[in-house]
Amino acid sequence: MRQLADPATVAITIDDAPMPETMPGMLELLDLHHAKATFFMSGFRAALAGELVAETVRRGHAVYAHGWDHVRLDRESPRRLMEDMERCEALLAHYRPTPDPYLVRLPYNGGWRSARIHRTLNRWRPGCAIVHWGPSLEDHMTPTRCASVEDIERECRRDVDRVLADPRLAGGIILMHDQPINDRPGAQHKTAVTVTLLRQLLEGLAERGLKSVTLPPPPPQRWWRRYILT
Ligand SMILES: [Zn+2]
Repeated sequence: MRQLADPATVAITIDDAPMPETMPGMLELLDLHHAKATFFMSGFRAALAGELVAETVRRGHAVYAHGWDHVRLDRESPRRLMEDMERCEALLAHYRPTPDPYLVRLPYNGGWRSARIHRTLNRWRPGCAIVHWGPSLEDHMTPTRCASVEDIERECRRDVDRVLADPRLAGGIILMHDQPINDRPGAQHKTAVTVTLLRQLLEGLAERGLKSVTLPPPPPQRWWRRYILT
């Protein structure tokens, strides 16, 4: 899945959550703009921040598994992949019913071109679909351009303006992270960058009359058909 049917909507997808540094601010911003988002959560982080998972669900956002460990699960055995996803989903299922059909994004977007991975995910949950994306904030790079706090607003604006100008924006699936994972220069600004990016993005979407919605269920297709189309 990489595009929504309704061009008056966008789906903001947020990977790696829940990070306690950024999630409360992000949830407040989403509420302020009456926006819904879809979170792909890492199990080991969710296990440390159950209250944030509960709060995310309570505010009407969609929550799916991003694997338990943030590793290249597509390079592991099918069994390890399924066990990892199941462990993460079993935790998330404490907070909301398991969605059916299921949506997945694997760490580092691993395996989205791999028939073996699509087949394995469909063995885990029939109808399970990998969610791709259109415009990406490329937020792993934004902090690296921020030498000081004064740079944050301007450097976030560059990334947000690029996404807002993307021809795939209307009906688009937008990718961001709740805190870009890297230890590059500027890492001390990651939290401020993440919240600033989301604020500017939500303001820009509102100006364009685009409504942020949770990802709809995937269209009913056989896994191999979906593989061919992606
Ligand atoms: Zn990730």
